[in-house]
Amino acid sequence: MRLRVLRVSIPRFRTELERIPAYRAGKGPGARADGLEAFKVSSNENPYPPLPSVRAVIEAAAHDVNRYPDPVSTVLRAAISRHFGVPIDHVAVATGAVALCYQFAHATVEPGDEVLFAWRSFEAYPILSSVAGATAVTVPLRADGAHDLPAMAAAVTERTRLVFVCSPNNPTGTVVSQAEFDAFMDAVPQHVLVVLDEAYIEFNQDPSAADGLVTYPQRPNLAVLRTFSKAYGLAGLRVGYAVAAPPIIDALNKTALPFGVSVIAQAAAVASLEVESELKERVGSLVAERERVEAELVASGVPITDSQANFIWLACGDRTSDFAAHCETEGLTVRAFPGEGVRATIAEPEANDRLIRLAGWLV
Ligand SMILES: *Cc1c(COP(=O)(O)O)cnc(C)c1O
Repeated sequence: MRLRVLRVSIPRFRTELERIPAYRAGKGPGARADGLEAFKVSSNENPYPPLPSVRAVIEAAAHDVNRYPDPVSTVLRAAISRHFGVPIDHVAVATGAVALCYQFAHATVEPGDEVLFAWRSFEAYPILSSVAGATAVTVPLRADGAHDLPAMAAAVTERTRLVFVCSPNNPTGTVVSQAEFDAFMDAVPQHVLVVLDEAYIEFNQDPSAADGLVTYPQRPNLAVLRTFSKAYGLAGLRVGYAVAAPPIIDALNKTALPFGVSVIAQAAAVASLEVESELKERVGSLVAERERVEAELVASGVPITDSQANFIWLACGDRTSDFAAHCETEGLTVRAFPGEGVRATIAEPEANDRLIRLAGWLV
Protein backbone atom coordinates (compact mmCIF):
# COMPACT_ATOMS: atom_id res chain seq x y z
CA MET A 1 0.00 0.00 0.00
CA ARG A 2 1.32 3.43 -0.91
CA LEU A 3 0.77 6.37 1.39
CA ARG A 4 -0.17 9.62 -0.25
CA VAL A 5 2.08 12.43 0.88
CA LEU A 6 -0.03 15.39 1.91
CA ARG A 7 1.27 18.92 1.81
CA VAL A 8 1.61 19.99 5.42
CA SER A 9 -0.70 22.82 6.24
CA ILE A 10 -2.50 24.21 9.26
CA PRO A 11 -6.12 25.22 9.67
CA ARG A 12 -6.93 28.81 8.89
CA PHE A 13 -7.74 30.80 12.02
CA ARG A 14 -9.37 34.18 12.49
CA THR A 15 -6.97 37.06 11.87
CA GLU A 16 -7.81 38.53 15.31
CA LEU A 17 -5.94 35.62 16.88
CA GLU A 18 -2.67 36.89 15.44
CA ARG A 19 -2.88 39.82 17.85
CA ILE A 20 -3.14 37.53 20.87
CA PRO A 21 0.10 36.21 22.35
CA ALA A 22 0.23 32.40 22.53
CA TYR A 23 0.12 31.09 26.10
CA ARG A 24 3.49 30.00 27.44
CA ALA A 25 3.49 28.27 30.79
CA GLY A 26 5.40 30.25 33.40
CA LYS A 27 8.20 28.64 35.34
CA GLY A 28 7.01 27.59 38.80
CA PRO A 29 9.30 28.30 41.74
CA GLY A 30 10.29 24.63 42.15
CA ALA A 31 13.06 23.34 44.36
CA ARG A 32 16.26 25.36 44.51
CA ALA A 33 19.73 23.93 44.67
CA ASP A 34 20.67 26.34 47.46
CA GLY A 35 17.76 25.20 49.65
CA LEU A 36 16.23 28.69 49.84
CA GLU A 37 12.43 28.48 50.02
CA ALA A 38 11.01 30.05 46.86
CA PHE A 39 7.75 32.01 46.82
CA LYS A 40 5.49 32.67 43.83
CA VAL A 41 3.89 36.07 44.32
CA SER A 42 2.98 36.63 40.67
CA SER A 43 -0.69 35.56 40.48
CA ASN A 44 -2.43 37.30 43.40
CA GLU A 45 -3.32 33.98 44.95
CA ASN A 46 -4.36 33.60 48.56
CA PRO A 47 -1.45 31.98 50.47
CA TYR A 48 -3.78 30.14 52.87
CA PRO A 49 -4.91 26.60 52.01
CA PRO A 50 -8.67 25.86 52.26
CA LEU A 51 -10.19 25.89 55.74
CA PRO A 52 -10.70 22.32 57.05
CA SER A 53 -14.49 22.71 56.89
CA VAL A 54 -14.33 23.79 53.22
CA ARG A 55 -11.94 20.98 52.42
CA ALA A 56 -14.36 18.46 53.95
CA VAL A 57 -17.14 19.78 51.70
CA ILE A 58 -14.85 19.51 48.66
CA GLU A 59 -14.05 15.91 49.52
CA ALA A 60 -17.70 15.05 50.09
CA ALA A 61 -18.73 16.67 46.78
CA ALA A 62 -16.27 14.39 44.96
CA HIS A 63 -18.81 11.64 45.62
CA ASP A 64 -21.23 13.19 43.12
CA VAL A 65 -19.01 13.87 40.13
CA ASN A 66 -20.60 11.14 38.01
CA ARG A 67 -23.54 13.58 37.65
CA TYR A 68 -23.56 16.85 35.70
CA PRO A 69 -23.59 19.92 37.91
CA ASP A 70 -26.69 22.10 38.22
CA PRO A 71 -26.21 24.23 35.08
CA VAL A 72 -27.56 27.37 36.76
CA SER A 73 -25.91 26.82 40.17
CA THR A 74 -29.21 27.28 42.01
CA VAL A 75 -27.96 26.54 45.53
CA LEU A 76 -24.92 28.76 45.14
CA ARG A 77 -26.92 31.60 43.60
CA ALA A 78 -29.40 31.34 46.48
CA ALA A 79 -26.52 31.50 48.95
CA ILE A 80 -25.06 34.60 47.22
CA SER A 81 -28.54 36.13 47.14
CA ARG A 82 -29.06 35.63 50.89
CA HIS A 83 -25.54 36.63 51.80
CA PHE A 84 -25.53 39.95 49.96
CA GLY A 85 -29.25 40.73 50.13
CA VAL A 86 -29.81 40.72 46.35
CA PRO A 87 -32.58 38.92 44.41
CA ILE A 88 -31.54 35.51 43.08
CA ASP A 89 -32.44 36.50 39.51
CA HIS A 90 -29.81 39.25 39.78
CA VAL A 91 -27.00 36.68 40.15
CA ALA A 92 -25.03 34.72 37.53
CA VAL A 93 -22.21 32.29 38.28
CA ALA A 94 -19.40 31.11 35.99
CA THR A 95 -16.00 29.45 35.97
CA GLY A 96 -14.22 32.44 37.47
CA ALA A 97 -14.89 36.13 36.99
CA VAL A 98 -12.72 35.96 33.89
CA ALA A 99 -15.30 33.70 32.21
CA LEU A 100 -17.95 36.32 32.94
CA CYS A 101 -15.69 38.97 31.33
CA TYR A 102 -15.72 36.88 28.11
CA GLN A 103 -19.49 36.45 28.38
CA PHE A 104 -20.02 40.22 28.74
CA ALA A 105 -18.08 40.73 25.50
CA HIS A 106 -19.86 37.94 23.63
CA ALA A 107 -23.20 39.30 24.80
CA THR A 108 -22.58 42.89 23.67
CA VAL A 109 -20.07 43.10 20.82
CA GLU A 110 -20.75 43.00 17.08
CA PRO A 111 -17.76 43.10 14.70
CA GLY A 112 -16.07 46.49 14.85
CA ASP A 113 -17.65 47.55 18.13
CA GLU A 114 -15.47 48.97 20.88
CA VAL A 115 -14.62 47.72 24.34
CA LEU A 116 -13.25 50.47 26.57
CA PHE A 117 -10.99 50.08 29.62
CA ALA A 118 -8.17 51.81 31.44
CA TRP A 119 -4.59 50.79 30.79
CA ARG A 120 -2.74 49.30 32.39
CA SER A 121 -5.43 47.09 33.86
CA PHE A 122 -6.44 43.41 33.92
CA GLU A 123 -4.59 41.56 31.16
CA ALA A 124 -7.66 39.57 30.12
CA TYR A 125 -9.51 42.68 28.85
CA PRO A 126 -7.52 43.20 25.60
CA ILE A 127 -7.44 39.47 24.89
CA LEU A 128 -11.17 38.90 25.33
CA SER A 129 -11.85 42.03 23.26
CA SER A 130 -9.88 40.52 20.36
CA VAL A 131 -11.53 37.13 20.75
CA ALA A 132 -14.94 38.79 20.59
CA GLY A 133 -13.95 40.66 17.41
CA ALA A 134 -14.05 44.04 19.13
CA THR A 135 -11.67 46.96 18.94
CA ALA A 136 -10.05 47.59 22.31
CA VAL A 137 -9.94 51.28 23.25
CA THR A 138 -7.71 52.14 26.18
CA VAL A 139 -7.39 55.25 28.33
CA PRO A 140 -4.12 55.71 30.25
CA LEU A 141 -4.20 55.55 34.05
CA ARG A 142 -3.47 58.80 35.88
CA ALA A 143 0.07 59.37 37.16
CA ASP A 144 -0.99 58.00 40.58
CA GLY A 145 -2.07 54.70 38.95
CA ALA A 146 -5.79 55.42 39.30
CA HIS A 147 -8.49 55.32 36.60
CA ASP A 148 -9.07 58.61 34.77
CA LEU A 149 -12.85 58.28 34.68
CA PRO A 150 -13.60 61.68 33.06
CA ALA A 151 -11.21 60.77 30.21
CA MET A 152 -12.85 57.35 29.93
CA ALA A 153 -16.32 58.92 29.73
CA ALA A 154 -15.00 61.21 26.99
CA ALA A 155 -13.63 58.17 25.09
CA VAL A 156 -17.09 56.59 24.74
CA THR A 157 -18.15 56.64 21.07
CA GLU A 158 -21.23 55.41 19.25
CA ARG A 159 -19.40 52.09 18.76
CA THR A 160 -18.72 51.55 22.48
CA ARG A 161 -20.71 48.60 23.78
CA LEU A 162 -18.82 47.56 26.90
CA VAL A 163 -16.69 49.32 29.52
CA PHE A 164 -14.58 47.66 32.21
CA VAL A 165 -13.77 49.64 35.36
CA CYS A 166 -11.45 47.67 37.64
CA SER A 167 -11.54 48.73 41.31
CA PRO A 168 -9.21 47.93 43.01
CA ASN A 169 -7.30 48.00 39.74
CA ASN A 170 -5.08 45.10 38.77
CA PRO A 171 -2.09 45.78 38.79
CA THR A 172 -1.95 49.20 40.52
CA GLY A 173 -4.34 48.43 43.42
CA THR A 174 -6.06 51.84 43.22
CA VAL A 175 -9.81 52.28 43.70
CA VAL A 176 -12.34 54.58 42.03
CA SER A 177 -14.29 56.69 44.51
CA GLN A 178 -18.07 56.47 44.76
CA ALA A 179 -18.37 60.14 43.72
CA GLU A 180 -16.14 59.65 40.66
CA PHE A 181 -17.99 56.50 39.70
CA ASP A 182 -21.45 58.07 40.09
CA ALA A 183 -20.39 60.96 37.83
CA PHE A 184 -19.02 58.43 35.32
CA MET A 185 -22.26 56.43 35.28
CA ASP A 186 -24.20 59.68 34.77
CA ALA A 187 -22.02 60.48 31.74
CA VAL A 188 -22.12 57.06 30.03
CA PRO A 189 -25.17 56.39 27.81
CA GLN A 190 -27.47 53.75 29.28
CA HIS A 191 -27.21 51.42 26.27
CA VAL A 192 -23.50 50.90 27.10
CA LEU A 193 -22.87 48.08 29.57
CA VAL A 194 -20.46 49.04 32.37
CA VAL A 195 -18.78 46.25 34.33
CA LEU A 196 -17.34 47.18 37.71
CA ASP A 197 -14.72 44.49 38.27
CA GLU A 198 -14.41 44.11 42.05
CA ALA A 199 -12.21 40.98 42.10
CA TYR A 200 -10.25 42.46 45.05
CA ILE A 201 -12.94 44.50 46.81
CA GLU A 202 -12.75 42.40 50.00
CA PHE A 203 -9.25 43.80 50.62
CA ASN A 204 -10.35 47.44 50.30
CA GLN A 205 -9.98 49.71 53.34
CA ASP A 206 -10.77 53.04 51.65
CA PRO A 207 -14.24 54.18 52.80
CA SER A 208 -14.59 56.49 49.77
CA ALA A 209 -14.30 53.58 47.29
CA ALA A 210 -17.23 52.83 45.00
CA ASP A 211 -19.43 49.93 46.15
CA GLY A 212 -20.94 48.05 43.23
CA LEU A 213 -23.63 46.25 45.21
CA VAL A 214 -24.91 49.56 46.60
CA THR A 215 -24.72 51.24 43.19
CA TYR A 216 -26.19 48.72 40.76
CA PRO A 217 -29.88 48.89 41.87
CA GLN A 218 -30.09 52.45 40.48
CA ARG A 219 -28.10 51.61 37.33
CA PRO A 220 -29.75 49.28 34.77
CA ASN A 221 -26.54 49.23 32.67
CA LEU A 222 -24.14 48.30 35.52
CA ALA A 223 -22.91 44.78 36.34
CA VAL A 224 -20.82 44.02 39.42
CA LEU A 225 -18.20 41.32 39.06
CA ARG A 226 -16.73 39.37 41.97
CA THR A 227 -14.84 36.14 42.52
CA PHE A 228 -14.13 33.36 44.99
CA SER A 229 -10.54 33.17 43.70
CA LYS A 230 -8.82 35.86 45.74
CA ALA A 231 -10.26 36.66 49.19
CA TYR A 232 -12.03 33.29 49.47
CA GLY A 233 -8.95 31.33 48.36
CA LEU A 234 -10.65 29.09 45.74
CA ALA A 235 -8.64 30.11 42.65
CA GLY A 236 -8.05 26.48 41.67
CA LEU A 237 -11.76 25.65 41.62
CA ARG A 238 -12.84 28.49 39.26
CA VAL A 239 -15.93 30.27 40.57
CA GLY A 240 -16.94 33.89 40.07
CA TYR A 241 -20.24 35.74 40.01
CA ALA A 242 -21.95 38.77 38.56
CA VAL A 243 -24.71 40.83 40.15
CA ALA A 244 -26.89 42.94 37.84
CA ALA A 245 -30.46 43.56 36.68
CA PRO A 246 -32.20 40.53 35.09
CA PRO A 247 -31.76 41.58 31.41
CA ILE A 248 -27.97 41.55 31.92
CA ILE A 249 -28.09 38.23 33.80
CA ASP A 250 -30.21 36.70 30.99
CA ALA A 251 -27.63 37.80 28.40
CA LEU A 252 -24.86 36.27 30.52
CA ASN A 253 -26.74 32.98 30.78
CA LYS A 254 -27.22 32.85 27.00
CA THR A 255 -23.48 33.20 26.43
CA ALA A 256 -22.36 30.78 29.17
CA LEU A 257 -20.55 27.53 28.53
CA PRO A 258 -23.02 24.81 29.57
CA PHE A 259 -22.31 23.04 32.88
CA GLY A 260 -19.17 25.12 33.47
CA VAL A 261 -19.10 25.42 37.25
CA SER A 262 -18.35 21.99 38.66
CA VAL A 263 -20.21 20.13 41.40
CA ILE A 264 -17.16 20.59 43.64
CA ALA A 265 -16.76 24.29 42.91
CA GLN A 266 -20.43 25.04 43.62
CA ALA A 267 -20.30 23.19 46.95
CA ALA A 268 -17.02 24.82 47.99
CA ALA A 269 -18.29 28.31 47.22
CA VAL A 270 -21.47 27.73 49.28
CA ALA A 271 -19.36 26.40 52.15
CA SER A 272 -17.04 29.41 51.92
CA LEU A 273 -19.90 31.86 52.31
CA GLU A 274 -20.94 29.95 55.45
CA VAL A 275 -17.52 30.39 57.05
CA GLU A 276 -16.99 33.91 55.83
CA SER A 277 -16.10 35.24 59.27
CA GLU A 278 -13.09 32.89 59.40
CA LEU A 279 -12.09 33.85 55.87
CA LYS A 280 -12.45 37.55 56.77
CA GLU A 281 -9.84 37.05 59.52
CA ARG A 282 -7.42 35.83 56.89
CA VAL A 283 -8.27 38.79 54.66
CA GLY A 284 -7.63 41.01 57.70
CA SER A 285 -4.18 39.47 58.19
CA LEU A 286 -3.33 39.99 54.53
CA VAL A 287 -4.48 43.62 54.74
CA ALA A 288 -2.33 44.12 57.85
CA GLU A 289 0.62 42.61 56.00
CA ARG A 290 -0.04 44.88 53.01
CA GLU A 291 0.00 47.91 55.31
CA ARG A 292 3.21 46.72 56.95
CA VAL A 293 4.93 46.24 53.57
CA GLU A 294 3.66 49.59 52.28
CA ALA A 295 4.91 51.42 55.36
CA GLU A 296 8.36 49.82 55.02
CA LEU A 297 8.59 50.58 51.30
CA VAL A 298 7.46 54.18 51.75
CA ALA A 299 9.96 54.63 54.59
CA SER A 300 12.79 53.45 52.37
CA GLY A 301 11.70 55.64 49.45
CA VAL A 302 10.43 52.94 47.05
CA PRO A 303 7.73 54.40 44.74
CA ILE A 304 4.42 52.58 45.24
CA THR A 305 0.74 53.31 44.56
CA ASP A 306 -2.05 53.30 47.16
CA SER A 307 -3.04 49.63 46.90
CA GLN A 308 -6.37 48.45 48.28
CA ALA A 309 -5.85 44.91 46.96
CA ASN A 310 -3.78 41.86 47.99
CA PHE A 311 -0.76 43.05 46.01
CA ILE A 312 1.68 45.95 45.75
CA TRP A 313 2.60 47.82 42.59
CA LEU A 314 6.20 49.01 42.32
CA ALA A 315 6.59 51.52 39.51
CA CYS A 316 10.12 50.46 38.50
CA GLY A 317 9.97 51.86 34.95
CA ASP A 318 13.07 50.98 32.94
CA ARG A 319 14.43 48.84 35.75
CA THR A 320 11.44 46.51 35.83
CA SER A 321 13.00 43.52 34.06
CA ASP A 322 16.26 43.79 36.02
CA PHE A 323 14.41 44.06 39.31
CA ALA A 324 12.20 41.05 38.48
CA ALA A 325 15.31 39.02 37.55
CA HIS A 326 16.95 40.07 40.82
CA CYS A 327 13.86 38.89 42.75
CA GLU A 328 13.85 35.59 40.85
CA THR A 329 17.48 34.96 41.77
CA GLU A 330 16.56 35.55 45.40
CA GLY A 331 13.61 33.13 45.31
CA LEU A 332 10.74 35.55 44.79
CA THR A 333 8.75 35.20 41.55
CA VAL A 334 7.02 38.53 40.86
CA ARG A 335 4.93 39.70 37.90
CA ALA A 336 6.89 42.06 35.67
CA PHE A 337 5.38 44.43 33.10
CA PRO A 338 8.59 45.46 31.31
CA GLY A 339 9.14 49.20 31.15
CA GLU A 340 6.31 49.85 33.61
CA GLY A 341 6.53 48.08 36.92
CA VAL A 342 6.32 44.98 39.06
CA ARG A 343 3.27 43.55 40.82
CA ALA A 344 3.95 41.48 43.92
CA THR A 345 1.24 39.62 45.82
CA ILE A 346 1.04 39.93 49.59
CA ALA A 347 1.70 36.37 50.76
CA GLU A 348 3.31 34.59 53.71
CA PRO A 349 5.12 37.00 56.09
CA GLU A 350 8.45 35.49 55.04
CA ALA A 351 7.72 36.26 51.38
CA ASN A 352 6.65 39.78 52.32
CA ASP A 353 9.86 40.29 54.33
CA ARG A 354 11.83 39.18 51.31
CA LEU A 355 10.00 41.67 49.10
CA ILE A 356 10.79 44.48 51.53
CA ARG A 357 14.47 43.49 51.57
CA LEU A 358 14.75 43.08 47.79
CA ALA A 359 12.96 46.37 47.08
CA GLY A 360 15.97 48.05 48.69
CA TRP A 361 17.71 47.32 45.37
CA LEU A 362 15.49 49.99 43.79
CA VAL A 363 16.67 52.93 45.91
C1 LIG B 1 -8.11 37.59 39.28
C2 LIG B 1 -9.00 38.57 38.56
C3 LIG B 1 -10.25 38.24 38.05
C4 LIG B 1 -10.88 36.92 38.00
O1 LIG B 1 -10.40 35.87 38.50
P1 LIG B 1 -11.15 34.47 38.39
O2 LIG B 1 -10.15 33.58 39.01
O3 LIG B 1 -11.39 34.20 36.95
O4 LIG B 1 -12.41 34.61 39.17
C5 LIG B 1 -11.05 39.21 37.49
N1 LIG B 1 -10.63 40.46 37.41
C6 LIG B 1 -9.44 40.84 37.87
C7 LIG B 1 -9.07 42.24 37.77
C8 LIG B 1 -8.58 39.91 38.44
O5 LIG B 1 -7.37 40.28 38.85
